[in-house]
Amino acid sequence: MDQKNTSIELDQDEIPESDIQFDCPYCGKHLSIDPRGAGLVIVCPDCEKHVSVPIPDGLDIEDIDASPEELSFRLRTSKATITKLQQQIYALQQQVDELQKFKEKAIEEAAEAAIHRKSLKASVLQFAKLEKQFAEAIDELNHKFPEFND
Ligand SMILES: [Zn+2]
Repeated sequence: MDQKNTSIELDQDEIPESDIQFDCPYCGKHLSIDPRGAGLVIVCPDCEKHVSVPIPDGLDIEDIDASPEELSFRLRTSKATITKLQQQIYALQQQVDELQKFKEKAIEEAAEAAIHRKSLKASVLQFAKLEKQFAEAIDELNHKFPEFND
């Protein structure tokens, strides 16, 4: 497995031994993250679900937060996660809108189909009536003018 691809925008050149290694609980993708990411929520690069980075045994999260550089790293990672989640929310909202439109259209079409069926039935009845009238008219003509009838 190429671990470089699973590294969350961290050291692109190598995966240090100290990296936190874990599997995405949703898709099982093996993830590797800088220890400074411990306890953060990240977006899985494979399934795009948000997963909590485990805090390794013996690692004190308070120590991680000590330096401004590390705080800024955590902030950047959190911001990236929030941006991705916002994109997911936006995409879901789009899907909800699409479904809503689809539902409205389906209701409209069902109503149109009902009207169409009704008018079709009326037409059939109308034709049946006309057919009967023609048959009667022909019978009457045949009766009045038997010479035209072979
Ligand atoms: Zn995943």
